[in-house]
Order: sequence, then structure tokens, then C-alpha cells
Amino acid sequence: MSIIVNDTIAAISTAAGQGGIGIIRLSGPAAIDIAEKMFKGNKGATLAGRKSHSLLLGTIYDPADGSDVDQALIAVMRAPGTYTREDVVEINCHGGVAAIEKTLNLVCAAGARPAAPGEFTLRAYLNGRIDLAQAEAVVDIINSRTEAQLRVAVDQLEGGLSQKIGRISDALVEALAQLEAAVDFSDEDIEVLPVDDIGRMLREAHKELIALGETSNRGRILREGIDAAIVGLPNVGKSSLLNALLREERAIVTAVPGTTRDVIEEAISIKGVPLRIKDTAGIRHSVDEVEIIGVELSRRTIKTATLVLCVIDGSRPISAGDIGLVEEVKSEPAVLVINKADLPEDKSVAGLELPQNFKARARVSALTGDGIDELETTIEKLFFAGEIDMSDKTLITNARHAQLIERAVGATREAFELLEASMPEEVVATVLKDALSDLGEITGETVSEDILGRIFSRFCIGK
Ligand code: GDP
Repeated sequence: MSIIVNDTIAAISTAAGQGGIGIIRLSGPAAIDIAEKMFKGNKGATLAGRKSHSLLLGTIYDPADGSDVDQALIAVMRAPGTYTREDVVEINCHGGVAAIEKTLNLVCAAGARPAAPGEFTLRAYLNGRIDLAQAEAVVDIINSRTEAQLRVAVDQLEGGLSQKIGRISDALVEALAQLEAAVDFSDEDIEVLPVDDIGRMLREAHKELIALGETSNRGRILREGIDAAIVGLPNVGKSSLLNALLREERAIVTAVPGTTRDVIEEAISIKGVPLRIKDTAGIRHSVDEVEIIGVELSRRTIKTATLVLCVIDGSRPISAGDIGLVEEVKSEPAVLVINKADLPEDKSVAGLELPQNFKARARVSALTGDGIDELETTIEKLFFAGEIDMSDKTLITNARHAQLIERAVGATREAFELLEASMPEEVVATVLKDALSDLGEITGETVSEDILGRIFSRFCIGK
């Protein structure tokens, strides 16, 4: 990606398709001039004469032939108090796809360049309004599917992560300054901190980095969801249970055993925490080819899942198949879901013995929805009792950040070990600089253009 920052860019910033309004956003030195060329303000109002952050009503027209395109409300925002720190104009069209696209074509014909994905946010970063971690939070906010994901992303946008990294970096810079003073003024009578104190500073920073790195596990769960599987013999109600959890009819439900032949994957949010839930074909011995594949998939799903919901039909006697299945589930924790609780429970159910990895039994009726809420609470508690403490919202949710923190953890450890082994200060300083550069890559102080290109390509156009 080549980074040009002196031209004016434009893009449709609202989602594609029909909508109430569609917004075309322009950013750059010529933003106001360009918009002016195709705008007739009501009562002769012009954009140039408006003060920053004002709205004007008028008509967008095609300067080539003078024909009207759409009624529009235009927002004029002047640098530097804008998202990009450049002049920004937002044209709120009435929303028809044709009007929005026509307007975008007009602004491009008048000198704006179509923006690349994430280019507005890239400019906000390059112009120093936000740092890189904050820019990445913008993508996370757009992609958030659950409230918990959103809360963490907003904290990052507000600078929660950047401040934490900043504090640790400050401590490392201070230690570095002390080390370099010790080198530069070694034969002069200058006060530098005793080596022990520098070592303590480094250990402290190292500990904080480890703590921050450890949040990435919770962050990963928030980002990717818990890998969960619903397993059980045919007809026990797996698809129905998935639907009850999804609260909509998504998986196919039928009374013929073995209809769920493929693994269906659904992302759901249980009490604000995402689960990637897999509904598998019924496990049983079968001569039907497709079913055999389905059964094999189930076995594999059981192996890779972090959480298994093992479903049985509580209205029927426990079968050898149920027992075999329960034994096949090795994940920790697993939950036995006794379905069809709206029907009388068979007396064999209470006697079903469960291996250690089963942490709970839940009685539900996928048909009536009874017990579903309790099942969700059970799942939430198994994973997050005290674990996802949302009072500290700064979590590492980004794999790039996690990797860099891990490297900084290694470098800081090496630094204090070298120091304690009485290695020359220059050597320790070099290692410390590596740690600082890793942390700088998170906030974007030491990041390469190549990495920037990769990060901003994850954005959508218009953001
Ligand atoms: P799967 O083969 O395990 O996916 O089972 P399905 O979800 O397709 O359900 C099989 C049959 O059991 C269907 O006729 C469902 O309507 C019925 N069923 C599912 N859950 C319940 C329940 O909680 N109570 C009752 N009475 N029937 C249920």
C-alpha cells in the first residue's frame, strides 16, 4: 500500500443496498470545494461560507447537464476537529442505490479519489488522532456480534489498551535511560540508579506484560467463541435444542431419525459470550453412506470441541447407544442435556452414570423452551464464573497484539536476566530496545508500511 495523504478521498460509508439514508463521505483538503461543485443550497446557501460542524439542506445536481440527482443534507466539518483530522464532508442522500452511486460518481468526477478499505481510519491514524490499536478497535467494533465483544472493543478505541502499553513502555524507557546513563557517564560522577533498582523496574514491567498477555485467552474466547458441539443419538432433539438456543428455526427438524447429516455451525451469544455451536448428525451405527460420514464428523467434532452438550431423550429408556456416546465424550466440561422434559421422565434416566468430565445435568424441553435459560446459565457459569471479569475491560483480543506482547515478555525477561548476570549495560539496553519496539508495534509507533497495509485491508470501504 502506498500512503498518500494529500488528496481527497470519497466512499459510500453506509451499508450497501436500499436504506433510509445513504452517506457519502469525503475527506481531504478539497472535500468542501468538491462537494460545492454539485450542491445547490436552499436559499442560495454555500458550503464554503459555513462554519465547522454545520448541516445544510439542498439539492445534489449533475454539473455536466444541470439535472437534479437527489435532495440531500450535507454536513461540513473542518480540520482538525474531525475523524480524519482533515476537512470532512458527509452527504446524506435519500438512500436509493442509484442516487448514492450517482453522487459518488459525481464527487469522483470532480476530483475525489475512491477510498481504499479503511482509508478514513488510516488517515485518522496517520494524522495522529488515534493510534494503531485504536484504529484496529474500529474494525472490532464493526465486527462485534455480542455485547461483551463490543464493550472490549470500545474500551480499546477509547485507548484502554494504549494507555496500559504506554505505562509499561514508559517504565522500560526509564530503565533504558538509566542503563544508557550508566554507559555514557561511567567514568563521571553522575547519579544513576543502582543496578538492583533497574532490575526491579524490569521485573515489574515483565510481570505486567505477562498479566496483559494472559488476558488474551479470555480475549480469544470473546473473539472466536467457545467451540461447542451438540451430540446425541438420532431423534433425541439436537436440532430442536439448537433452535431453542438460537431462538429461531435454523436447523432442519424432523421426526425421521438421521436428518441432520452435515455439521451445522452457528454462532450464538449466551449471556453476552459467544459460542460456536456445532450440531452434528446423530451418532449410531448405520449402513447408509451419508450417515456414516455424518457419524464420523460427530466423532471428530467431539474430539475438537471445548464444550460438548450431550443430549438424551429423557422420555425413553437409556439405551446402550446413549451410554456409548457418553463414554465417547472426553471434553471437559461436558453437560448432559436431558431433553423432552415436557414428557414424563423414564425411570432409567436418573440411574445413568456419568464420567468425571460431565459437570452438570440439565433438564430441558427444546419443544416448550423450559429449562433453556437455566442451561444457558449453567454454560455461562462453567466457563466464566469469575473468569470474565468485565470490570477490567482491557483484554487482548487481537492475535497480532498477543504475539507482540509475548515477544515483549520474552525480551524483558532476557533483559533482567542479563542484568542480574552482570552483563554489560549496552547488551541489556539492546534487548530492552527490542521489547520497546514490540510494544511500539501495537500502538503503531514502530510499525512498517507492510503491516499497516495488512491491518487496514481488513476494514470495509467507507470506514
Ligand atoms: P435430532 O435428530 O436429535 O436432531 O432431533 P430433532 O430435533 O429433529 O427432534 C426429533 C423429534 O423430537 C422431533 O419430532 C421433535 O419435534 C421432537 N422433540 C424435540 N425436542 C422435544 C421436546 O423437548 N419435547 C418433545 N415432546 N418432543 C421433542
